[in-house]
Amino acid sequence: MFRASVFTLYPDFFPGPLGQSLSGDALQRGLWSLTTHNIRDHGLGRHKAVDDTPAGGGVGMVIRADVLAASLDEHLTAQDKRPRLLMSPRGKPLTQARVRELASGEGVAIICGRFEGVDERVIEARGLEEVSIGDYVLSGGELAAMVLLDACVRLIPGVMGKLESGHDESFESDLLEYPHYTRPRDFEGRTIPDVLLSGDHAKIAKWRHEQSLALTKARRPDLLKK
Ligand code: SAM
Repeated sequence: MFRASVFTLYPDFFPGPLGQSLSGDALQRGLWSLTTHNIRDHGLGRHKAVDDTPAGGGVGMVIRADVLAASLDEHLTAQDKRPRLLMSPRGKPLTQARVRELASGEGVAIICGRFEGVDERVIEARGLEEVSIGDYVLSGGELAAMVLLDACVRLIPGVMGKLESGHDESFESDLLEYPHYTRPRDFEGRTIPDVLLSGDHAKIAKWRHEQSLALTKARRPDLLKK
């Protein structure tokens, strides 16, 4: 079973949206599990401090290496080979290929940063892999962790109705997905392209591929260069 362990200062964020719809159903059906660990349980002193001022000066606070390491060490054994992902805008951008890889494994341990981030030494010492969900800065790693988990969970066998539903999708072949239509046949004078009503599956597949190519060229030419 795919097991997700999330290290956070805000465990109450979870399961949040992951408890709804497809991922929520799958969680209830035991197709994956979600555990949260409050980093603050290892905080220091009366105030359970988890952060301190940046060495060298500057604004903001940094999560202490010793506090985060203690939390990781309590809950992750040496035998636990799941990737340890630190959500971080500096990380390698998350791709559908990486999501597929993660979804086919035993699960993930995810560390959610806050403030200015975490002390570099714990990243090195505990082999954390930095992962970004895009070129923008969130206030914390929790939403980023949910994005990653949502993307993984829908690919776990048995979660989606038909396994194929993941196959034609955007990014699966470095192409964006073709447009979809459904009833009614006429919506405010806009009709469904004739080819989709023709029943000719070869023609439909060709049309969809052409649409995918045209959309990718217009919106994401970088994908075609791959
Ligand atoms: N000072 C950091 C920087 O400039 O790279 C930004 C820290 S951000 C305010 C706080 C936390 O939010 C980060 O440690 C990370 O866990 C999370 N975060 C923010 N943006 C993210 C992104 N694009 N992808 C993944 N995690 C992100």
